[in-house]
Amino acid sequence: MQRFVGFVYRDVRLLGPAGRPESIEIAIEPHNGIRGRCSRCRRPAPGYDRLPPRRWLFVPLWGIPTWFCYAPRRLECAEHGVVVEYIPWSQGKRPITCAMMGFLARWARRLSWRETARTFQTSWEMVYRSVEWFVRCGLALRQLDGVASIGVDEIHWGHGLRADNFLTVIYQIDAGCRRLLWVGRRRSQATLRRGLKALGPGFAKRLRFVCTDMWKPYLQVIAAQAGQALHVLDRFHIVSHLNQAVDQVRRAESARLRANHSEAAQRLKHMRWPLLRRGSRVRGRARQKLNALLASKLATARAWELKESFSHFWRYKTVIWAGAFLDYWCFRAVRSRLEPMQKVARMLRAHEPLILNWFRAKGELSSGAVEGLNNKIRVVTRRSYGFRTYKAMEIALYHNLGRLPEPESTHKFC
Ligand SMILES: [Zn+2]
Repeated sequence: MQRFVGFVYRDVRLLGPAGRPESIEIAIEPHNGIRGRCSRCRRPAPGYDRLPPRRWLFVPLWGIPTWFCYAPRRLECAEHGVVVEYIPWSQGKRPITCAMMGFLARWARRLSWRETARTFQTSWEMVYRSVEWFVRCGLALRQLDGVASIGVDEIHWGHGLRADNFLTVIYQIDAGCRRLLWVGRRRSQATLRRGLKALGPGFAKRLRFVCTDMWKPYLQVIAAQAGQALHVLDRFHIVSHLNQAVDQVRRAESARLRANHSEAAQRLKHMRWPLLRRGSRVRGRARQKLNALLASKLATARAWELKESFSHFWRYKTVIWAGAFLDYWCFRAVRSRLEPMQKVARMLRAHEPLILNWFRAKGELSSGAVEGLNNKIRVVTRRSYGFRTYKAMEIALYHNLGRLPEPESTHKFC
């Protein structure tokens, strides 16, 4: 940690009416006998002159806005000529101390940005700039050498289904470290290539496992750039494709029955969520309705049984038996005369080798890692941080899910 070396506190002034200070000023002076350091090379240099005093916002004391007040020296550096001295509590020309930026950034993980600004009597802009600085430092400091497994996924964001409503995310999903590595707009080949490039030269070549959805652009980029890694199709995505297919069958059948004023339409009422859950998790009255539905000859019941029987797939220990089951399941699905289930079967068949890789990677990859990180992303994008721009949201994602190392600071609070 950088220390407050070479400077001393001279005095503290309370500004405003007596007994009700509106701000606090902490006057700082250079330490006698310790030379200032050149802001470019950080080597000690003899003094030249003093600039007028400047103020930097510090962490509020007793809820009162607090400022550092200091007249910076100009120095005569042997190498760089006349320069302003290095000031350890600030960065660049910003009128805020690093300690305060770190303080706001840490609070901005617990509160919304707006609440953070209100609580500490500053602006949304100031909170945004602080988090941005914190994230930039963290990204520059983080280590990516040990990343062996990644998950790549698409996240829907905002309203609508335009290309800009999707984000591509790259996670590290190693057992010891799960974090967001990269996020970018859209979900094309170019997006993923941009992401892998941003993670540094040789990053893709060092990977051992890659976990994705059956999204063609991703499959192509991974095959081209990380051919040495074992490419696994994520269990959670396959399950969600099956669930979507069951839901399509239910909706179509429900509309058909209602159009014919059939009594069987009642059986499908309020069944959306019980049908999407795992069979063993459906209890109580929903279970009774589900049993009644299964006893019927409705297409929805057959679709649900197909989906439910697929869960056996994950229990196999060997690739050969899992492959045999997959063939058998696809055969049944294709003969089911349920178009959405047939579509899933065709998709699974087309990606059979990648799906079976799940058994080759068994024990090394956690199937829930990508899903868990996706849920955390949703919490951040939906929480009312009051994002005004896409950029702000991106920064918030790195800040909350990137596990970034923290920048150095002369003082640390909270
Ligand atoms: Zn210098």
